[in-house]
Amino acid sequence: MSLSFSAGDLTIHRVIEQETTFLPALEMFPDLTPELLAENRAWLRRAKALDDADVLILCFQSYVVKTPHHTILIDTCIGNDKQRPTRPNWHMKTDDAYLNGLKAVGVSVDDIDFVMCTHLHPDHAGWNTRLENGRWVPTFPKARYVFAQTEFDHWTTQNAKTEVPTFVDSVLPVVTANKAEIVSNDFTIGDHARIIPTPGHTPGHVAFAFGKSKDSAVFCGDLMHTPLQTRYPQLSPKFDVDPAQAAVTRRNFLERYCETDTLCCPAHFPSPSVGKIRRKGNAFTCETVS
Ligand SMILES: [Zn+2]
Repeated sequence: MSLSFSAGDLTIHRVIEQETTFLPALEMFPDLTPELLAENRAWLRRAKALDDADVLILCFQSYVVKTPHHTILIDTCIGNDKQRPTRPNWHMKTDDAYLNGLKAVGVSVDDIDFVMCTHLHPDHAGWNTRLENGRWVPTFPKARYVFAQTEFDHWTTQNAKTEVPTFVDSVLPVVTANKAEIVSNDFTIGDHARIIPTPGHTPGHVAFAFGKSKDSAVFCGDLMHTPLQTRYPQLSPKFDVDPAQAAVTRRNFLERYCETDTLCCPAHFPSPSVGKIRRKGNAFTCETVS
């Protein structure tokens, strides 16, 4: 299984924390009918995106991007010691899969210059922090953590109404440690990294495009969760905050990168996860590369 890719002057590594069953496809997508699932079952199973019981298989991973100047971590997965009682696979985890995965691609926590979160859900911000002597501290001590302003504001408002555990244990401690860069959508890292607003899954969800003068790679977080959505961009999972907006964002994104050389790196597609967007009938496909 390939964990590393080149694109332009970038090197991209995958760091996998879990690759496992998540939710039944029909439960995750309220608009998915049994008939449509049946039409797509064979190729989804071949792609290892669906198991024998029609449960979707998702990869939970970060991407490490090395530009000529920086080492950047995109999303930080689930994390250890976090109270996530509604998700048994995430709850009070103590394994070393993630930190070993970083080591396996030759990266230490001290090497990360920037952490960039596509959005602030528990499986994208978890390793932002780790527990040290009963306190949450930044896992990547030398990194600036990039959070989109709209996303940060959204969770600030939610957290004021009802405590949001991920915001409290994985985002606010980074702010307290003065490591956060809360940025608008014109944020860039030199001429190598840019933000593409991709609202819908959450109000401030963003994608990150990398590459000098062109988008060599794009990291699109939870803009889509499974390759089924490239064929049917209108399918929004039940937890998209604004399903209609997410569907429009998804189609626009796929159209933007369709038939280009840009490596598309979604957070949750099954291994090898990374691919190029190609036209397929009235929709798209993500042709994996290895
Ligand atoms: Zn996610």
